[in-house]
Amino acid sequence: MAEQIPGAAPRKGARRRSESQWAMGYYEPQTPAERVKRDQDALEVFDRIVNLHAKEGFRSIMPQDLNVRYRWYGLYTQRPEEDGLFMMRIRVPGGVLSADQVEAIGRISQTYGQDVADVTDRQNFQLHNIRIEDVPDVWARLSAVQLSTQEACGDVPRNILGCPLAGIAADELIDATPYVLAVNNRLTGTKEFSNLPRKFKTSISGCRDQCAVHEIMDIGMVAHEVGGRVGFDVWSGGGLGPNPHFAQRLGAFVPPERVVEVAVGIVSLFRDYGYRRSRNHARLKFLMADWGAEKLRETLEQVYLTRPLEDGPPAPESRSVHREHLGVTRQADGRSAIGFAPMAGRISGTQLVRIAGLARRFGNGRVRTTTQQKMLILDVPEEDVEPLITALDDYGLPARPNAFRASTMACTGIEFCKLAVVDTKARARWLIDELDALLPGIHDRVRINLNGCPNSCARYQLADIGLMGSLVPDPDGGDRIDGFQVHLGGKLGGQYQFGKKQKGLRVAGRDLPKFVAGLVGTWLEHRDEGQDFSEWFNELEPAEAETVVAGARG
Ligand code: SF4
Repeated sequence: MAEQIPGAAPRKGARRRSESQWAMGYYEPQTPAERVKRDQDALEVFDRIVNLHAKEGFRSIMPQDLNVRYRWYGLYTQRPEEDGLFMMRIRVPGGVLSADQVEAIGRISQTYGQDVADVTDRQNFQLHNIRIEDVPDVWARLSAVQLSTQEACGDVPRNILGCPLAGIAADELIDATPYVLAVNNRLTGTKEFSNLPRKFKTSISGCRDQCAVHEIMDIGMVAHEVGGRVGFDVWSGGGLGPNPHFAQRLGAFVPPERVVEVAVGIVSLFRDYGYRRSRNHARLKFLMADWGAEKLRETLEQVYLTRPLEDGPPAPESRSVHREHLGVTRQADGRSAIGFAPMAGRISGTQLVRIAGLARRFGNGRVRTTTQQKMLILDVPEEDVEPLITALDDYGLPARPNAFRASTMACTGIEFCKLAVVDTKARARWLIDELDALLPGIHDRVRINLNGCPNSCARYQLADIGLMGSLVPDPDGGDRIDGFQVHLGGKLGGQYQFGKKQKGLRVAGRDLPKFVAGLVGTWLEHRDEGQDFSEWFNELEPAEAETVVAGARG
């Protein structure tokens, strides 16, 4: 537990109820989860899993472990809970992987996970259908290739995101990989940060596309060059879920040598000042909304840093809203990185084993995951580019997918996730195929994100067409059926904004192809040259937008 901050005392009258901030002297847990974390540090559940639960089976797991502490090791029970099976998340800092690591994940999926895996939009892998009895062997196999599930979930610093082309992009400002790894090593595996008020998300990128979604992170660091020096512009307090907030800039220039110090400072500030009274109000974004960037920076500097931050210039410009990294990207050394698309993040263990083989055969065994549920094989010589693309195609992993497969993402959904109300992965696969048949040969990408509930794991507020799962009345009079609430025009990059919720509009899942094709067709017909979907939609007058949406509904 953190030291009480000297001189801190409950503020009188500032709020009628305390927010249970440790820094204000409120240490008494106010929620069941806070109590469980206080009673025993969640990192300590490891021994119990290996030495007790794995031997005695699912029924030996007490609820405090199953529903809270297991997350600190990447374990969630999956739907249906009676089956006693787990989703297991593997942490992949910066999306950096070796062929041996990819092969290990693939073989674990084949052996223990019914040959199913997902690559997530936070560059992790998720396995499904894991039995508690098999967890020690899974961990041993991961550990043998320096992978871990520790702190992949839970109220901790989650996986650190980075640009998948870090260290190889011809035009990057700085290779941020060493900083991703240093921050990852400093923040994880320590009780100093294993009891935060809620999850804490970080990204550090050195590229010019700013592809690590800093705009919605608790800490988002993006490189920029100021007066001949390269450093990082720091954003903080972003997050999605039902109450989305964009991160705010701290207005500071952080030189590379201070990245770890600043990350540790912001996480420490969140641990001490973050709200613990209600889990729905515990993310850093709520503290940021109350304090503002100026007060957060001031507190950071005064309480946690060795010296003040340098003021920074305006935010560096971002070039692209499409950050999939598909197809062929020429590396600084003349070789190429080949990006390819699993189906809305779904991949099999068998495909992963094959990817590992291809990475060894055509590259140097280096693989990356992206923040858009895509993957890359690096270091491919010119003469091997087309043979590799053909081999990937043979394995169902296109490097030049149709426009819909390129830009569609889906969260886990009702297949495994207990919070979901609708199916997402299978729906996405079907939608992609239907759209490709309705609008064949389209090259311009539309970002379509399907989510099974308001938690927004697949970022529906940031898509051109964001779809949030919701049950809708069956027009044929039966039980309620799968449907989606619609958000239009969300984007990151320059002019970032959340999609506009289309009030009262919920489209039945089975009607999605016609609806989405209607929107896309109108956009293609009426846009100015080069205008992406969000740019076009956001420039429409409200009445025009209503007409477009009504036309798509038919
Ligand atoms: Fe589950 Fe909801 Fe997240 Fe989808 S968005 S994975 S349904 S919690």
